Amino acid sequence: AGWFGHVPEAPRDPILGVTEKYLADANPLKMNLGVGAYRDDSGQPVVLKSVREAERRVAGSHFMEYLPIGGHRQFCEDSAKLAYGEDAGVVHGKQVAMIQSLSGTGSCRLFAEFQGRWMKGSKIYIPSPTWSNHHNIWRDAQVEEVIYPYYNKETKGLDFERMCDTLSKAPAGSVVLLHACAHNPTGVDPTREQWQELSKLMLEKRLFPCMDMAYQGFATGDCERDAQAVRIFLNDGHRLALSQSFAKNMGLYGQRVGCFSIVCEGPAEAKAVESQMKALARPMYSNPPLHGALLVHQILSDPELKQQWYGEVKEMADRIISMRTLLRQNLEALGSPHRCAGRLAWVSPCCCVCTSATRSCCGRMDEPWAGPTGSWAGHKRPLRRRSPRPAAGISSGQGAAPHSRLRTCPTCAKPAHPGRCPVLAPCVFRGPCHPTRIPARSWQHITDQIGMFCFTGITPEQVDRLTGEYSIYLTRNGRISMAGVNSGNVGRLAEAMHKVTS
Ligand code: PLP
Repeated sequence: AGWFGHVPEAPRDPILGVTEKYLADANPLKMNLGVGAYRDDSGQPVVLKSVREAERRVAGSHFMEYLPIGGHRQFCEDSAKLAYGEDAGVVHGKQVAMIQSLSGTGSCRLFAEFQGRWMKGSKIYIPSPTWSNHHNIWRDAQVEEVIYPYYNKETKGLDFERMCDTLSKAPAGSVVLLHACAHNPTGVDPTREQWQELSKLMLEKRLFPCMDMAYQGFATGDCERDAQAVRIFLNDGHRLALSQSFAKNMGLYGQRVGCFSIVCEGPAEAKAVESQMKALARPMYSNPPLHGALLVHQILSDPELKQQWYGEVKEMADRIISMRTLLRQNLEALGSPHRCAGRLAWVSPCCCVCTSATRSCCGRMDEPWAGPTGSWAGHKRPLRRRSPRPAAGISSGQGAAPHSRLRTCPTCAKPAHPGRCPVLAPCVFRGPCHPTRIPARSWQHITDQIGMFCFTGITPEQVDRLTGEYSIYLTRNGRISMAGVNSGNVGRLAEAMHKVTS
């Protein structure tokens, strides 16, 4: 018998496995919408002009010597400034421990190991859903994982109330993994006000933020704006860990260039923490690769090149946004209803979330409702109306009770009431509101979501049909990498999506 007869084949990675299947498909019309790698409008990988210029500048100018364990120091400082802010006091005050990492994955893994070693017994709170590799990373670092609610399938938006509720019950000292921007896979981020609320909650509960920022620039097209979550937490006085990747925003995927940093109390603590970060890196890979760090350093340290890069990030983000619009338009032109059963909810006139949901109603309603005093479990009453109440009726103010326990609506920042409706919380009114049909939103979420991915709401079985019948490859959770959509394939994609969902 051989040495390894007992070794079973490992399950395929849910994301990279998609590419393997795509490569084996002979259909010339096949589409790979699995991996989050940017493509131009002709479906080709892109090397940014700023990166080409940086390559030209570094070519032949460096030896191929080892970098130190912590990597290229100036690169790390440039990265830290990009995230924390050019004038960030914590960077200038040497409060940040930082080392170059093997892209975003390497940063997360280093932090998970650091947590296991130096935050002993603490758990990691991971959003549901998240990038699938997060689970592997913390599992392999032997840190116990707890899931917190993040995405509400019904509203296709953030489940902020339940998220805060779970986090508020986490034991002090727990670590909370947050996607700093362009959440993968949902494309749904907290608003500025929600970040602020979350920051306060986590300070109060003594929860430690670990921010994964793999897409700085891809959410809004503006790298500075995309750093808002990091900066809000920093301004509130958090100590935090940050993982940065230059894979997506500089298109340096294969160069494996990233930065792992931890904001500490002061320079002495940062020095000790950094030495322990290096102690973790040394037995894993000794030191990180040189070339990518030189390129990023060239770009971030030259104001002109940096501006050029900012422009290119915006171009990539804008192309993705325009593809979202085009995909939605194509689906709507086909009359695609996205098979959405509407449902009845208690809707407040002050609730912007509900009115906007109703406005984009597809008109298909076939779910019973609970009745004005009913509970959401076991709703049995038959439908009374087959068409949605017009949006104007909802926003007219009828039926509104005096406002009590007003809170800021996470979407529009207007006063709203935390509700008992499990569908639209936290924005549904507590008082005697209209029992109003809230239809599913058709394909509106395609344009509501941000960043590289679209969480389509397509079921695993529908994904199997997309792949089997149309050679369209995506992960079974219905996530589409919008970066792989272009004006040449969007029509065919919309048609296929329409067919498998209707
Ligand atoms: N974090 C998130 C949320 C991601 O989506 C990804 C990549 O898909 C990564 C981290 C890691 O990316 P990389 O290791 O290529 O920088």
